[in-house]
Amino acid sequence: MQIKTGEISALIRQQIKNYSHEIDSSDVGTVVTVGDGIAIVYGLDNAMLSELVIFPNDIYGMVMNLEEHSVGVVLLGDGNLIKEGDTVKRTNRVMEIGVGDELIGRVVNSLGQPIDGLGDIKYNKFRPIERIAPGVMLRKSVDTPLQTGIKAIDAMIPIGRGQRELIIGDRQTGKTAIAIDTIINQKGKGVKCVYVAIGQKNSTVAQIVDKLKKAEAMDYTVVVAATASEAAPLLYVAPYAGCAIAEEWMEQGQDVLIVYDDLSKHAVSYRALSLLLKRSPGREAYPGDIFYLHSRLLERACKLDDAHGGGSITALPIVETQAGDISAYIPTNVISITDGQIFLITDLFNAGQRPAVDSGFSVSRVGGAAQIKAMKQVAGSLKIDLANYNELKSFSQFGSDLDESTKVVLRHGEVLFEVLKQEQYQPYPVERQILELYVAKNKYLEDVKLSSIRPLLNKLYDVFLTSHNDILQYIVDKKIIDENIENKLKNACDDFMNIYKKEF
Ligand code: ATP
Ligand code: MG
Repeated sequence: MQIKTGEISALIRQQIKNYSHEIDSSDVGTVVTVGDGIAIVYGLDNAMLSELVIFPNDIYGMVMNLEEHSVGVVLLGDGNLIKEGDTVKRTNRVMEIGVGDELIGRVVNSLGQPIDGLGDIKYNKFRPIERIAPGVMLRKSVDTPLQTGIKAIDAMIPIGRGQRELIIGDRQTGKTAIAIDTIINQKGKGVKCVYVAIGQKNSTVAQIVDKLKKAEAMDYTVVVAATASEAAPLLYVAPYAGCAIAEEWMEQGQDVLIVYDDLSKHAVSYRALSLLLKRSPGREAYPGDIFYLHSRLLERACKLDDAHGGGSITALPIVETQAGDISAYIPTNVISITDGQIFLITDLFNAGQRPAVDSGFSVSRVGGAAQIKAMKQVAGSLKIDLANYNELKSFSQFGSDLDESTKVVLRHGEVLFEVLKQEQYQPYPVERQILELYVAKNKYLEDVKLSSIRPLLNKLYDVFLTSHNDILQYIVDKKIIDENIENKLKNACDDFMNIYKKEF
């Protein structure tokens, strides 16, 4: 860092002038340079890392760099109001955010201030935005499903409460859609949701809030928004602020779902800060501690054991790739931190396969424990069937006459892909997913026109709701398709196909 001699002499002169005031340089400092949302401050000898400091006009800053003769502070307000020579005071507090049920239904910025025009929020409790994640002894393994309501995910890549599952894909592949549908699907399931928007457009965030309101999902959701128009420091703190809000509920023994949309933009904002603070750049110009940035965040998602209330935080971080390259720096980092990933592919999306989940690259390492038995029964062979189909499909493009068994596999794959398609904002309850996968698995749809499959499945669910609700209810209650219900289910499906198949 360069300090101009003029500045130094001005500082010394000021110090001499103020000498009789006995300013204690351990708690007070003077701005040496300010710009780009960063202030270099002389003094503040006792400042702590991440401590809040206060500038004139009540602008707060957060200490990010501790150097021998100065500290680097990122500004959390309008930097234009701060000038060289301004006095900076310590607050002896690390950064905190208001937490609690007051936040439900609200949209706040990364400092907890409301930005939805619905009036002030009266907080009763504050929490530091950074905290060491709960240790192994406080945790227990994931044992309860967190239903996304999306067939392709609940069947093949099941997510459990307390898990961290990455949603990764190129731009405009439906990443946000999956997260929003998952939030909508938590209605009535006793899961509170936190949606953290990082570096998105204001209009996008407004649309998302609107959709959540329409789906009555704002009744249990809080949105923390640091939009693209805000300064990099606010983008940088947003996920930690959201996580602190979630932690408060988790410690009360509740289940929380948190979405970070998205961590690529978070990494970029941290890179901007680091370069401005003159930290040395590493791979792709990110600073050396970029891995720690996301690992300390995602490690805070967990399932606590019963002695500690049994609450959980399920994290769905989102990362954007360039041209499907999951081996770039930030994607590999976050993949290695999370318990699995949902990989979305542009080609599938453009071919109309939505959600565009790639069944080969996507995994959930918690898996089985997060699925009910009935789902396992109908979805167990799904991934293999799709893999077989994908392999044979590439071969079949070369030859025209295929043998019968190949045709059967190909046809079944086509049917499965059709069954896995799902509209946005329409999460399915688990019994509906099981029903649809049951008829697909048991080859009821093999000679139905592809374009008729989804209308037929809609009809099937309608018929079951009106005439066979007992079967659906049995599956919901017992969570298994046992011999008691298997026959009934089979007969009901047979009857349905006899009556309705010709209509489609
Ligand atoms: P970005 O990279 O811009 O954040 P994204 O990957 O988050 O994009 P979305 O915004 O979720 O993608 O979706 C992109 C578009 O695809 C939107 O217009 C959305 O309505 C549409 N879309 C997403 N999922 C589906 C779906 N299952 N069915 C139909 N349309 C969908
Ligand atoms: Mg998005």
